[in-house]
Amino acid sequence: MSLLVVGSVAFDTIEMPSLLRQQQPGGSALYFSAAASYFCAVRLMAAVGDDWPAENTAQLEQLGVDTRGLERIEGQQTFAWRGRYAEDLEQRETVDLQLNVLEQYQPRLPACYRDSRLVFLANGLPRIQLAVLDQIDSPELVIADTVDDWIRSEREDLMRVLARIDGLMINQSEAVLLTGQQDLPAAGRALLELGPRLVVIKCGERGSLAISRDEVYSQPAYPLAQLLDPTGAGDSFAGGMLGYLSQQPQLSEASWRQALAVGTVMASFCLEGFSIDRLASIDAGEIETRLADLPRVSDD
Ligand code: AMP
Repeated sequence: MSLLVVGSVAFDTIEMPSLLRQQQPGGSALYFSAAASYFCAVRLMAAVGDDWPAENTAQLEQLGVDTRGLERIEGQQTFAWRGRYAEDLEQRETVDLQLNVLEQYQPRLPACYRDSRLVFLANGLPRIQLAVLDQIDSPELVIADTVDDWIRSEREDLMRVLARIDGLMINQSEAVLLTGQQDLPAAGRALLELGPRLVVIKCGERGSLAISRDEVYSQPAYPLAQLLDPTGAGDSFAGGMLGYLSQQPQLSEASWRQALAVGTVMASFCLEGFSIDRLASIDAGEIETRLADLPRVSDD
């Protein structure tokens, strides 16, 4: 099934307790595309400024990503995000966010993307998520992500997004911020009331929780020996999940569980490198090996 992602392509500045990384390629759609590229020819929809190096786009194309929807706008600068991590590399705050090219961006979906069956509305302005959704013929499954910045400043548009999606992926702290519920299953159920029929709450090294009306299912994280940079892990998780689903003839409950496992494995590769360095260099067999080693929660 064809898979489309719309989201940010960015220059990131990352502050970690003992390290500063400036201007590294990032963005929700970049990480998602790199992770999903191991499963299908993902269609990328985003805007960059004329400061975005052509070799970054070429790297995506080498991974098999369809970049016909990556619009380069002359005279504009690429979206820039600066995040600061706490000592545990789990807690993170946005220190600066420059919309730049996204401020006036009116996405025009290429005609060849209109028939996309699976759609991921990666973290980005809810206004842009809605505009892209309006241009897709009849998607089978729409999943979205968001962050605290948009929960605080674009709540109305975000509510419109939630009403139109099948699934929501969200961080633990953002689920609490959006619903006011501290208890995660309760936060998940409150989010179900807003529209989606599946909510995946990402809990960092504690794994993830999938909540539907019928069940709550948890997937532990992959036990990594060393973590370099957590940026983009959530997007890589989503890329693995939807990439896997794009290969399935039918979306059964078993396929959702396996999708969560594949997402967990793809996030683990992201954590091992800066930007998409590690994600772009996964050897054949490494994904299968990690999947086989991944801790699972049994039903009995
Ligand atoms: P993650 O660590 O999975 O939450 O994703 C981090 C990536 O999302 C970074 O590369 C940022 O460029 C991008 N990002 C952070 N905040 C935003 C935002 N408010 N809108 C769009 N993209 C963002």
